[in-house]
Amino acid sequence: MSIKVTSVSKTYKNQKALDKVSFSADKGQVIGFLGPNGAGKSTMMKILTGFIKPDEGAVFVDEIDVLQNPLEAQKVIGYLPEHNPLYTDMYVREYLQFQASVFKVDKSKIKSCIEKVGLTSEAHKKINQLSKGYQQRVGLAAAILHNPKVLILDEPTTGLDPNQLVEIRALIKELGKEKTVLFSTHIMQEVEAVCDRVLIIKKGVILIDKKLDELKENHQQIIAVTFDNKIEEQLINRLPNVISYKNNYDNTWSITFESEQDMRPVIFDFAQENSLKILSLNTQNKNLETLFREVTA
Ligand code: ADP
Repeated sequence: MSIKVTSVSKTYKNQKALDKVSFSADKGQVIGFLGPNGAGKSTMMKILTGFIKPDEGAVFVDEIDVLQNPLEAQKVIGYLPEHNPLYTDMYVREYLQFQASVFKVDKSKIKSCIEKVGLTSEAHKKINQLSKGYQQRVGLAAAILHNPKVLILDEPTTGLDPNQLVEIRALIKELGKEKTVLFSTHIMQEVEAVCDRVLIIKKGVILIDKKLDELKENHQQIIAVTFDNKIEEQLINRLPNVISYKNNYDNTWSITFESEQDMRPVIFDFAQENSLKILSLNTQNKNLETLFREVTA
């Protein structure tokens, strides 16, 4: 097991940030740690990396007890904190050399890290001359210098423009081929683009811990239909596979079905049987975005 967190709780003064959080991760997984602002993501990451202690619970990274041996654990963890703490008036190589000496890493590793994160063309510049996307790459290069087995990235894509977003996501995915990666975000599409697994946290409690494929195997369809005339609610309820329905206005209904079958033809037959005409019909799958909004609303 790469990461094992058991019943971790943390309260700041009177603000409960984490409430009995448990999860684990196998080697080589990319896990999206998703939740609205203030959900407890950064707190969990600071605990995982040994920078703060929980009030209770156990945390193991690569079988090392982080609470007992934070320095040992930090040898196998690469951490990109939320506010990437760069010395911006240093040159990229100078900064990475400095980081390498702090972590007692052989300086020969710097070149390959620069290449791995796609920084070669910018490596001769000062950090404050780089775009935010490249500054994130410097942070990532610093995080992987000591070749950690586990990468903890706190909101690595915040503040990036759309092109930089795509590049950094691709980089995270690439790094995930050889490392266990836990990264936090409040963007559902990001999780869809990069992760194998999703942890959704809200108010310090893990609400969902699933493989992305499992979450996608959601067979709920919502069909919004407008008939030309009134229809009894009981008749809608008698449609097959209906799990809920709502009369939006007048003769327009939103009907949610749990079915792998496309329910639109069923609605057409239903209209005909009840002497109704369909004026409009839209279908949407309950995607991860909707699920995330429902869970964290
Ligand atoms: P997230 O990373 O999901 O935005 P955080 O872990 O930063 O969430 O915060 C979780 C909760 O703990 C929030 O309510 C936040 O205000 C509170 N919190 C975080 N850090 C501190 C702190 N140092 N002192 C007091 N409260 C804090």
